[in-house]
Amino acid sequence: MSGDTEGTRLDPWLDSYASRALAMRASEIRALFAVANRPEVVSLAGGMPYIAGLPLEEIADTMRRLIVERGATALQYGSGQGDEELREQIVEVMKLEGIHAHPDDVVVTTGSQQAVDLVTTIFINPGDVVIVEAPSYVGALGVFRAHEADVVHVPMDEDGLIPESLDETITRLKAAGKRVKFLYTVPNFHNPAGVTLSLERRPKIVEIARRHGVLILEDNPYGLLGFDSEPLPAMRSLSEDGVIYLGSFSKTFAPGFRVGWAVAPHAVREKLVLASEAAILCPSNASQMAISSYLAHHDWLGQIKSFRVQYRERRDAIIEALEEHIPAATWTVPAGGFYTWVRLPEGLDAKSMLPRAVTARVAYVPGTAFYMDGRGADHMRLSFCYPTPERIREGVRRLAGVVDAEMELVKIFGTGTDRGGETVSFPSPDVA
Ligand code: PMP
Repeated sequence: MSGDTEGTRLDPWLDSYASRALAMRASEIRALFAVANRPEVVSLAGGMPYIAGLPLEEIADTMRRLIVERGATALQYGSGQGDEELREQIVEVMKLEGIHAHPDDVVVTTGSQQAVDLVTTIFINPGDVVIVEAPSYVGALGVFRAHEADVVHVPMDEDGLIPESLDETITRLKAAGKRVKFLYTVPNFHNPAGVTLSLERRPKIVEIARRHGVLILEDNPYGLLGFDSEPLPAMRSLSEDGVIYLGSFSKTFAPGFRVGWAVAPHAVREKLVLASEAAILCPSNASQMAISSYLAHHDWLGQIKSFRVQYRERRDAIIEALEEHIPAATWTVPAGGFYTWVRLPEGLDAKSMLPRAVTARVAYVPGTAFYMDGRGADHMRLSFCYPTPERIREGVRRLAGVVDAEMELVKIFGTGTDRGGETVSFPSPDVA
């Protein structure tokens, strides 16, 4: 039976799909992650916030009061642009990163993930170029692929995106007749690279984008989670016309409410609201009001401070464990956020090694997930946000056993690889 016939037998609608749906494929590593979620596996894979660090009883009381006292609104449809009171509070949150916006400029979304999708919907025709960092957030790559964008990676170093490389890339693409629509960037505590765009580079990136007429999509879910430093000014604070800024309550509070936001230039904001109404009518009133009352009645800044302490402890645990157990690898030391980006010893392939790692009861995300062009097999992303420091140390110990065994194999058989081929696929939320 040919592959096609087989496909038709399994899915009678195969001939009916839009071309963008044909590009959607579950990752071959997805099945592994079902196993990775078992309690005996230390998962250094998922970017899941440490929810147990929240005052759950207090949040439960808030939710109960919300439904009893304001249920008629909380359980009703709401505004497509989002709850006005919450938008006013979001304006206050953004002041921490130097952004001065008006509540009218804010669009509340179902997580910042929906905001990435909305921006892509309103700007990207198939074949238009989106520039991203190398590597880039897997969930955004999935959106760009779904919209049939031409995704081009630009290198980073320890200070984030390299301005000269960005300039050269845009110049080259334009000379080749391509339409470069926007730069998607995660400036703070990058997912997956763990690096932060330096203060000095921020105005340079903004200026290069302005000169080339390229919009910046600044995705900043981790900006308030610096371990030792105060937040850096957002690029949006440097340019109101050239930057769409995305924020989220997923990492500073809780992802289960699914509340994020976009701040956009006025005309763009109107299109975003129309696109969002077409997609979801309106964001959840109950979720927005829960967040709003959390911000109004809880010490949310104190909670962020406590998250920073907890995540710093975990960052220290993972870095110390890497130094002790996998000295042949190299890694970034993040100053905030959830991730370190590990380069494996020469000849090792993170994707082909993953089944053996899961068998050894440790999981990670292979670097290939964060590229559209087949690169990344020599890297892995390790998340330190969820397991306790003790579990992190145990996970790295297990990983070291797998790495050592692979290094022996490479010595005997040469590079054992699974390079190239399919890279990005639609991430399961526990990987994103
Ligand atoms: N952007 C980045 C860089 C992320 O890491 C994530 C979540 N892992 C998101 C966006 C999506 O977050 P949410 O939709 O929960 O706001």
